[in-house]
Amino acid sequence: MSADCLFCKIRRKEIPAKLVYEDDDVFAFGDINPQSPTHILICPRKHFASLDEATAEDQALLGKMQLVAAQLARQKQLTSGYRTVFNTGKGAGQTVFHLHLHLLGGRDFRWPPG
Ligand code: AMP
Ligand code: ZN
Repeated sequence: MSADCLFCKIRRKEIPAKLVYEDDDVFAFGDINPQSPTHILICPRKHFASLDEATAEDQALLGKMQLVAAQLARQKQLTSGYRTVFNTGKGAGQTVFHLHLHLLGGRDFRWPPG
């Protein structure tokens, strides 16, 4: 937990967000600046700055985040495909330093990513 962290504030409901999923381990909400028709952020309740801080103890939690993304993708009927992304560090485009998995869908994506 981090008092000043934006996503911890969303978890504590001190800042409003469009919550789409919540359980004892993770919470998920719509991105405020969506990059695709569906753009959801899946976060652990536990505060980590990034994937770089995760350890072997967090293995199940990291897997769960991906499985929640897959479940939400099925719910949102992203049948033509979707992308899950962890941006890790400033050079990769990370701007909020509470671990989050982007679920992007509803349009075609290019490879390599920008
Ligand atoms: P990243 O650049 O990978 O760290 O992703 C951070 C994401 O958080 C960006 O896609 C932002 O649009 C999103 N974001 C920032 N503030 C909020 C907020 N208050 N509610 C929802 N999403 C947010
Ligand atoms: Zn946090």
